[in-house]
Amino acid sequence: MAATSNLVLDDYEKTFRNVIDNELTSTAETRRAVDPSTGQPLAEVPVSTQADVDRAVAAAQAAFVGWRERSTDDRAGYLLQFADAIEANQAGLGPLLGKETGKPLQGQAIELFHLGSLIRQMVPLRLEEERKVVRRYLPLGVGVGIVAWNFPMGLAVVKLAAALLVGNTFILKPSPYSPYTALKLGEIGARIFPPGVFQVLSGGEDLGPMFTSHPGVAKISFTGSVATGKKVMAACGAHLKRVTLELGGNDAAIICPDVDLATTVPKIAFLSYVNSGQICLAVKRVYVHESIYDAFLAAFVEAVKTFKVGPATDAEAALGPVQNSMQYGKLQALYGEVAQQGLKVAYKADLPPALDGKGGFYLPSTVVDNPPEDSRLVAEEQFGPIVPLLKWSDEEDVIRRANATLMGLGGSVWSADTARAERMTRQLEAGTVWVNSHFEITPNVAFGGFKESGVGVEQGLDGLKGGAITNFSLRSNNAANIMRLSQEDVGVCSEP
Ligand code: NAD
Repeated sequence: MAATSNLVLDDYEKTFRNVIDNELTSTAETRRAVDPSTGQPLAEVPVSTQADVDRAVAAAQAAFVGWRERSTDDRAGYLLQFADAIEANQAGLGPLLGKETGKPLQGQAIELFHLGSLIRQMVPLRLEEERKVVRRYLPLGVGVGIVAWNFPMGLAVVKLAAALLVGNTFILKPSPYSPYTALKLGEIGARIFPPGVFQVLSGGEDLGPMFTSHPGVAKISFTGSVATGKKVMAACGAHLKRVTLELGGNDAAIICPDVDLATTVPKIAFLSYVNSGQICLAVKRVYVHESIYDAFLAAFVEAVKTFKVGPATDAEAALGPVQNSMQYGKLQALYGEVAQQGLKVAYKADLPPALDGKGGFYLPSTVVDNPPEDSRLVAEEQFGPIVPLLKWSDEEDVIRRANATLMGLGGSVWSADTARAERMTRQLEAGTVWVNSHFEITPNVAFGGFKESGVGVEQGLDGLKGGAITNFSLRSNNAANIMRLSQEDVGVCSEP
């Protein structure tokens, strides 16, 4: 392994190349993503072809043989060195993340801060041995992570740490909207991992299908939209490829009448607008009890007014632009519908003249007052800085409304009466539910979605198991025992 001093990259601005078998390679064709703060094109990135995909998969298959033979501790050592190296590169990765996503400095710090702890909290997890029979978790082979643009490094690191820890090799395919930090993670990784173990390929919208249809890929771990998730699952079906899908959410937060407004309102406002609303687990619908609705709405608007909007370079900005032109267009249409349908807008921020119409993808933070349940803003995932507050009076009815969506990623109930909140929370149909909190996830606890929000889980021990086949083998040499095995006789073990 390399010394940490050799792990700091010297260029974060000009050259972005694929990482295949630890070699930095270019492609005949290149493309440029767009800086959402300015609308200007960024540096050139590769447009990978089928030949690049084939080379990467072949390298990952070749590397798999040696990587799976290493001990889990050995693999954990590589990952810990990778965590250190990411941190040693923060000065370069932060501004680059800002450029490709529009995240202001505060948002950059949030994503960067978590990368090391995501890895450090995952690597101590071990699939332990128990009792007389061994359940074996064998790595699958070549895993491919296909990720969205809202947390280009965070989403990648969760997938790569789990895949590599249990012995798979891993290829990362970033979103075409945010390929830059991923390619740099690949460059850092190339100085640490053996060739073929961790690779990164950038490309256009045709690159994902090259991986999902590739017979050499054993598993796809996908994070993105429901619509693409369905295509990914269908493509994986052709080879019965394993697949984990982490998809969209339309999380409800239900506010009971007894909450302390002074402490609850700023939390809910933050959880709704952080990263300009572009988080799968952001609060996307706020159901407020009618007895406190007016006071809550007024305080919520005051809280939203404090969120300064600015470019990626603005140290005081809480919110940046939305990340790309596609999302900007979708949201502009949604804002247009809200106006067209005459929905009541309680607050719409004025964009500073320095930002308005200057090419960046800025949108005014907006609060919509009690829109109909079937309006698109309520029924669909908005993924932007426009949030509906909705009135409720009957407990059973509000739970029905919270659950009346095809999505089921997260949900929360807020109340001073924790027994009541717990009773209500237990009825929410979502992969993760919280009492008096939201979006609190941790790398050592499994995370996934109900209904169309996902298939399978990642993070935690259950996430690790998703990267491995379970197998049984009897240590006793009395073959007859096999017939007498019951599920209780089966233990688990970390090594093949
Ligand atoms: P997207 O589905 O458009 O793209 C996600 C990735 O899929 C990109 O890398 C894209 O290039 C790739 N892709 C596109 N077509 C493909 C195909 N046919 N086959 C294989 N790959 C293909 O999603 P997005 O707009 O980048 O992300 C926003 C969505 O992601 C939101 O719905 C958000 O809620 C969701 N999200 C979910 C989680 C979670 O953990 N559940 C986390 C972050 C974001």
